[in-house]
Amino acid sequence: MGTLVTMVEMQTLTRDIILAHCTQEYPLEACGLLIGDERGVQQVFPARNEARSARVFVADPHDVLLARESATAQGLKVVGVYHSHTNSEAYPSPTDVAQAPDPSWYYVVVSLARPLAELRCFAIKEGQVKELRIGEPVTSPSGPES
Ligand SMILES: [Zn+2]
Repeated sequence: MGTLVTMVEMQTLTRDIILAHCTQEYPLEACGLLIGDERGVQQVFPARNEARSARVFVADPHDVLLARESATAQGLKVVGVYHSHTNSEAYPSPTDVAQAPDPSWYYVVVSLARPLAELRCFAIKEGQVKELRIGEPVTSPSGPES
């Protein structure tokens, strides 16, 4: 058996940024990249939804490139993707599962179908969806704030 990741570290602030972006783009689906390391998500890189659709998303390739460059410049990497569901559950759709590009990625899905937005995180490997528990980092990511 390989490493079974069951938890992803993500600060509440990071979750709030994702929720704010998804709410802002509503009624269209929002999407963006997750930047971090093997322990979890440290940053969010909002991307344009090239599809400009309420039902599907295609992360703008240029934004994906910028996210990768930003991550690399900080010694981090792109570790996943987030997007919103405007009218369905916070769970990967069959399309999301079929198009999941990387088995090591985190897949965050936000549902705006009800008044209270919901955010969940998954791993998608070989067509299998597994929900990951989201936890606060034990130590906050270091970085110059000044
Ligand atoms: Zn979806």
